[in-house]
Amino acid sequence: MKQKTAIIAVIGMMLASCGPKQEHINVQDEFTPLEAGAVHLDGFLDDYIRHSITQWNKGVVPYASFVDFFRHGRPQFALGEMWGKAVRSGCMFYRYTQDPELKSILDSTIQDMLSAQRPDGSISCSEPEQQPDGPNGDLWERKYVMLGMEEYYEWVNPDPAVLESLAKQVDCILAQVGKAPKTEITDLGWSATNIGYEPCHIESGTLLEPFMRLYKWTGERRFLDFAAYIVESGGTKEYNLFEQAYNNVEPHLMSGHYPKAYEMMSLFEGLVEYYRATNDPRIRQAFFNLYHHIREKEITIIGNGGGDQPYHPRVMGEAWDHTAFEQTNPDITRMMETCVGVTWMKFCSQILRLTGDVSTVDEIEKYVYNGLIGAMKPTGDGFSYVNLLNGCKVNDHGWGWTFGDVHVTCCNLNGPMGLAYLPYVAVMNSASGPVVNLYNAGTAMASTARGEPVKLEMITDYPLSGHILVRVTTQKPETFSIRLRIPSWSKATGMQVNGEPVSVSPGTYATIERKWSSDDRIELELDMRCRIIDAPHGSNRAGDHFQALVRGPVVLARDEKIDEHYNDPVSLVSKDGFAEIIPEDPTIPGTKMQFRVPTADGFIRMVDYASVNNWDGSHICTWLPEVQ
Ligand SMILES: [Zn+2]
Repeated sequence: MKQKTAIIAVIGMMLASCGPKQEHINVQDEFTPLEAGAVHLDGFLDDYIRHSITQWNKGVVPYASFVDFFRHGRPQFALGEMWGKAVRSGCMFYRYTQDPELKSILDSTIQDMLSAQRPDGSISCSEPEQQPDGPNGDLWERKYVMLGMEEYYEWVNPDPAVLESLAKQVDCILAQVGKAPKTEITDLGWSATNIGYEPCHIESGTLLEPFMRLYKWTGERRFLDFAAYIVESGGTKEYNLFEQAYNNVEPHLMSGHYPKAYEMMSLFEGLVEYYRATNDPRIRQAFFNLYHHIREKEITIIGNGGGDQPYHPRVMGEAWDHTAFEQTNPDITRMMETCVGVTWMKFCSQILRLTGDVSTVDEIEKYVYNGLIGAMKPTGDGFSYVNLLNGCKVNDHGWGWTFGDVHVTCCNLNGPMGLAYLPYVAVMNSASGPVVNLYNAGTAMASTARGEPVKLEMITDYPLSGHILVRVTTQKPETFSIRLRIPSWSKATGMQVNGEPVSVSPGTYATIERKWSSDDRIELELDMRCRIIDAPHGSNRAGDHFQALVRGPVVLARDEKIDEHYNDPVSLVSKDGFAEIIPEDPTIPGTKMQFRVPTADGFIRMVDYASVNNWDGSHICTWLPEVQ
């Protein structure tokens, strides 16, 4: 036992010293992520993570071609975003795996990009005389260069040359963008003139996040002043999005004709960082209002949101569209961009860290097990662009560029970042002890209230079953709390600590405060009964007569490949809102879960939404039409 605890202490010390200090903040977070390398996942989610790292970040990503856009220009607007997005997911993955091969890929592309810095300090795809270049998305691209370098500085290597480069990039932006005679930030961008609307330029204000990260590390006033200027600008040319959010304007009505979901949340992620420095209660209210409105009015059954119908057809499925209510609207042809889902997940994780609000993890879990892994290519080298619930669920076409035989889209680049957030969110620390958010087999090195290391070992096949065993190992006995998330869907949950029952409530953290010592055990039995969900009432009443099935966090669907009648109306047999489904061996390799679902005529086969493979153009049915 002595040897075991000594090893834990050494690992704790090793983990304690990485990343820049974050001193210049006025609001302390409720939850903090564990140190880099402190979470090790096995099994279900880890398979997706490793596959993505191997096939994408260490596989097909053409880093050198991405950097070339900054030396020789780009053939299409906004392509300069690609480098920063690829690098930031790689850095977050490195935070998890500490893989030297991944580090060396990141080291060399960072050096390559540093060498592309222009004499004016910019790292830009536009020549100095064109800067700042509105229609080509110069500021959006520069934002992603900054974010890529910041992730690298924070999680891979705090190289002073990177910080120096970032400061020069910022000074160039400060010289070019601002009040007259400089160019106002809301006069720069491509949206929404690219689809024939008046200028909105929501994307440029997303510089807020990289500026605030730099301020947190350095405390330099000019970073915060520019962030304040962005917030004063309101985020778009015509509408003040921060005031709209504060005044509870619904997301699909914000920003006029152009409530672009991805950019809006990216902007508000920066706003959370701004709040940490300023402690302004109006700012806090604004992002909270947006969070709650998106959660209630936009997010579908698979945890992603936005659509093309009925309100914003010209924004091609990438706008807020009251989609929680419209998700069964038969007119929808495009919805739930992967960039939106991943940014929603990141926005939720910001609110989680800041407030400890457990509802954010319900949202993250819903997206992860359905929308996110359901959008990933089985080959691991990309993600669907937009996604559907009924029809062909995936779509490989969309904004992007082709490099040799690799087609890179915005969503191929963002999907891996969603996976990279899983270990970041799964287990966290609080002042009183560890917090378990996501259940997946694995190990986490967290901290007790006194800052001593504590190891949590999760033994489970979740989400195949709802049984989870958590083994606790401490250095020496200590009184602290362990919080475990009880999902809001788990209405009848069993929990025992060392065999003693503990009563818990759905949609809360179960907080167990006691003197913990090594080999203490927590057992959790989540309620995996299959729930039947009725369609929401949207604007098109033809969408009213549908039902969906959800088992634990996992949405079920009918797969055309195993059932040619996949789209036919059915009459589900249920009791108290639950269907008595029976697991069976999957018909097709690659399917994770398959069930027999009772109907008035016998049964149908359903599988988990995520593992249905529609990349060959086949179809899925998630919202099942009811027999009328
Ligand atoms: Zn995208």
